Amino acid sequence: MTNAIVVGSGPNGLAAAVVLARKGANVTVFEAADEIGGGTRSGELTLPGLLHDHCAAVHPTGAGSPFFRSLELERHGLEWAWPDLDLAHPLDSGEAGIMRRSLAGTTEGLGPDGPAWRRLFGPLAASFEELAEDVLAPVTRFPRSPVTFARFGLRALLPATVVARRWRTERARALFAGAAAHLIHHLDRPTSSAVGLFHIAAGHRFGWPVARGGSRKIAEALASALREHGGTIETGVHVTSLSQLPTADVVMLDIAPRAAVALLGDRMPQNVRRAYGRWRHGPAAFKVDLAVEGAMPWTNDDCRRAGTVHLGGTLEEIRHSESEVAAGRMPERPFVLLSQQYLADPGRSAGNVHPVYAYAHVPQGFRGDATESVLRQIERFAPGFRERIVHVSACSPRELARENPNYVGGDILTGANVPAQVALRPRAALDPYSTGVPGVYLCSAATPPGAGVHGMCGYNAAQSALRHLRRRS
Ligand SMILES: Cc1cc2nc3c(=O)[nH]c(=O)nc-3n(C[C@H](O)[C@H](O)[C@H](O)COP(=O)(O)OP(=O)(O)OC[C@H]3O[C@@H](n4cnc5c(N)ncnc54)[C@H](O)[C@@H]3O)c2cc1C
Repeated sequence: MTNAIVVGSGPNGLAAAVVLARKGANVTVFEAADEIGGGTRSGELTLPGLLHDHCAAVHPTGAGSPFFRSLELERHGLEWAWPDLDLAHPLDSGEAGIMRRSLAGTTEGLGPDGPAWRRLFGPLAASFEELAEDVLAPVTRFPRSPVTFARFGLRALLPATVVARRWRTERARALFAGAAAHLIHHLDRPTSSAVGLFHIAAGHRFGWPVARGGSRKIAEALASALREHGGTIETGVHVTSLSQLPTADVVMLDIAPRAAVALLGDRMPQNVRRAYGRWRHGPAAFKVDLAVEGAMPWTNDDCRRAGTVHLGGTLEEIRHSESEVAAGRMPERPFVLLSQQYLADPGRSAGNVHPVYAYAHVPQGFRGDATESVLRQIERFAPGFRERIVHVSACSPRELARENPNYVGGDILTGANVPAQVALRPRAALDPYSTGVPGVYLCSAATPPGAGVHGMCGYNAAQSALRHLRRRS
C-alpha cells in the first residue's frame, strides 16, 4: 500500500490528503497546532458564546472551488450561508457600491456604470465554472476553455487602476478597488486586477458566503472526507525535519517555501533551495475582533445587510494606502476588511451581542498597534459604533505568525503578490509543486493558484504526487 504524509492541515494540506486517500493511499496528516484547519479555524475570541473566525471568513473561492464542489462537502456538514447583500463599499458621501450575487441587482444599483459592469462581469460569471478550472490550475497547463481564459487573462494582466477606468462613478470604481485590494499589493502595477476580477466573477456566480458554524466547518468537512477514506490526523506535531516522519512514498508540505528549505535540508537541490530562498513574503494583516451590542450604526443603510464591508474610501485612497503598505510604511488610513458573518449565520451571536471581524492591511512584520486605526476606519462609516463595543481582541502580525508559521511576518497570503510570483510560483519549473526531492511536494498557498480557501493548491500538488507514484510503479 502507498504511504502518504501531509505536513500541515490547512485547506490545502487537507485537500491533498483527501485526493491521495481517495486514490487508496494510507494518509497521515501532521499538524503543528492543537487544532486542525490553519486559516480555517474559528472560536470564541471575545466573549463566551460569540463565534469568530480566526483567519478566513468569506468564501467566494471556497464555494466556487472545483475540487470542493466535487467532494460534496455538504455530506460532511459544510453549509454555505449567504447574507442579503454580499459586499458593500461605503464612501464618505454616504453612498455605497453594492455587489449582490445577482448581476442584474448589482448593475441596477450601479446606475450609469451598470452596463459597463455587466459587460465585464456578465460573461465571466456565466462561464465561471470553466474559468475556475483554468485559473485555479497550474499555469503550465494549457487552458481547457481558451476563449474564456483569454477574456479573463487579458484583463487580469492589467493594473486594477486601469480596469477601473471603465466606470465613471466613484462607487463603482471603489467597489472594484476594494475587491482588487485582496491582492495586498500596489493596485497600479500589472496583474493587480486579477484577484478583483476573479472574486467578483465568483461572487456573481456563487456569492460571497460564510460557512455556517464558522470557517472551521470547512476544515472539519475536509477532515471528515479524509477519515471516510481511512486517513488520520495527528495534531500538536511540529515537523522540523524529514527524519522526524515515518517512511512514506510521498510527502506533501503545506508550509512556506523557506520552511521547506529548513525541513528538507541538503536533500533539496541547490537550484530549488536558492529559488525558495528568494521567495518574498508580502504585507501583513492586523486583526481586530469585536463584540458589538446591537446593529452596526452604518451611515449607509445597505451596509447593515452586507456580509462584507470594505472600508478604505475611494479608489485613489485605496491605491495610496495599499502602495504605502507594500512599500513598508503604515498608512494613516489603512484598508480595512470587515465581516458581519452573523447576518448570514445568526447562531454566531449571543442574544443582541454580535461578533464583528475586521483586519487592516499593514506592512510586513509591522510591530505597532493598529487597533485604533481599524476602529477609526469603522467609526468613519458607522459613527457611534464605538459606544456599542463590548469587547475588543487584537491579533498583531507577530501573533498571526506565532499561531501559524505559514504567515511569515503576518503575511496572510504566504507570499507577496508581486507579478513574478503571481505568474510563476513558488519558482519557474515545469512542475511548480515539485521540491526537487523525489516524492516530496509543496502544496501550500505559495504554490499555484495562490492564497484563499479553495484547496486547489493541495489538489494540484496531489496530482503531481500521483503522477510520481504512477511513474514509479
Ligand atoms: C486574517 C486572515 C484572513 C483571511 N481571509 C480570507 C477569506 O476571507 N477568504 C479566503 O478565501 N481566504 C482568506 N485568508 C487566506 C486563507 O486563510 C489562506 O490562503 C489559506 O488558509 C491557505 O491555506 P493553506 O492550506 O495553504 O495554509 P494554512 O491555512 O495557513 O495552513 C497551514 C497549516 O500548516 C501548519 N504547519 C505549518 N508548518 C508546519 C510544520 N512544520 N509542521 C506541522 N504543521 C505545520 C500550520 O499550523 C497550519 O495549520 C485569510 C487569512 C488570514 C490569516
